[in-house]
Amino acid sequence: MNLDELYQSIILDHYREKHHSGLREPFDVEVHHVNPSCGDELTLRVQLDGETIADVSYEGEGCSISQASTSVLGDLIIGKDIEAFGTLYTDFLEMMQSKGAITPDEDRFEDAIAFAGVSKFPARVKCALLAWSALRDAVSQATDKEN
Ligand code: ZN
Repeated sequence: MNLDELYQSIILDHYREKHHSGLREPFDVEVHHVNPSCGDELTLRVQLDGETIADVSYEGEGCSISQASTSVLGDLIIGKDIEAFGTLYTDFLEMMQSKGAITPDEDRFEDAIAFAGVSKFPARVKCALLAWSALRDAVSQATDKEN
């Protein structure tokens, strides 16, 4: 299996069986983000416990990339602290804007490495970023609420 096939199979696995799917309680903030260029929609909830992202739950519809990205993000981020998410967000964004030039570190990115393949297709980058932008928005609102 070459790298592109591996990436595609990771995305399809998450699309077929989404992790952390469904809206759960309790939550601090709920956001709704859309990606009009593809028609993807996402409602996402976040629950903080101090500095820790205790839960991320969601309901989405749209293409396989946007759906898989949300599932992967949940796996990667639940239980991590806000600062770690911020660093990963910056690096994920850089990877997605690299047009395939950046090879991600699997230890840090886990299944999110699969979206390195998507970064070669500029029209689909927004699909992969939808969940990340929604979570960043939700975390920022939740932090404002606590302070
Ligand atoms: Zn899409």
